Amino acid sequence: MSGRAPARMKAGEKLDLHTHSDRSDGTLPPAQVAREAARRGVRLWALTDHDTVSGLNEAAAEASSLGIAFIGGVEISTRQHDYLHILGLGVNHRDKRFLQTLEEAASRRDARIRRVTEQLAAAGVDISYAEIRGLARGSLSRAHIADLLKSKGYASSRSDAFRKYLDPGKPGYAPSGGLDACEAIAAITNAGGAAVVAHPGLVLPVLELPAWKTAGLAGLEVFYPSHSADMTRKLLEMAVKYGFFATAGSDYHGPDSGRTASLGAPLPEKLRDEVAASVEKFVWNS
Ligand SMILES: [Zn+2]
Ligand SMILES: [Zn+2]
Repeated sequence: MSGRAPARMKAGEKLDLHTHSDRSDGTLPPAQVAREAARRGVRLWALTDHDTVSGLNEAAAEASSLGIAFIGGVEISTRQHDYLHILGLGVNHRDKRFLQTLEEAASRRDARIRRVTEQLAAAGVDISYAEIRGLARGSLSRAHIADLLKSKGYASSRSDAFRKYLDPGKPGYAPSGGLDACEAIAAITNAGGAAVVAHPGLVLPVLELPAWKTAGLAGLEVFYPSHSADMTRKLLEMAVKYGFFATAGSDYHGPDSGRTASLGAPLPEKLRDEVAASVEKFVWNS
């Protein structure tokens, strides 16, 4: 039992509903992300690894011992856009059908990674699928390829590797083979979770909110490190218009991930309490 979400959080306390561990492309194990969250003053925390729930038990146990309210989550990739991702907050991580969906996602990821490594090898880059597989502790991702390119001296950081080799138009680009957004939303909802569009500001041109509302979409990740103040306002208005709740996350990936956002979502305390109230029923309690 990780305790209830604090009905009212204290001044200075934070929440973070979007984070990654090394079960996908984060760099720290789940328990260490929990400790880092506690150190940063996070009192309500969700782990949302890409297409896997394998880190949730470890995260929940550590959160419980630290007195942090924990929400078990996931971030599902879609095929519409490389950055159109659907967060699932409070999914039942034992739901057989949902686990089957994640297994299928894992094989599509595997196929994409194989394709990327073949393309890179054909372009003269010294890289193999087996090496990538050896780096991953859970979900395989292009970030693992970027890490390998960095360790072999082909790039100076993950983002440099994406720019030079993995982005569209570069030799190692292959499109995402994920689920359709509506399928992802339905899979999350059927597993008892709330489906939330991750970082909607990065994918505005591909948002289809009316259709997704019909499919069961519940929230928008309004508060996100790279959303400008204008974007945040615009997204809040969209959330109100469609009846979605707003969520907030840092998309923390740990040290050496090439990302600078630290744990704790960027939002004012009054809105923080509203966000906390919207997701309180998803707090882990088994
Ligand atoms: Zn994402
Ligand atoms: Zn993420």
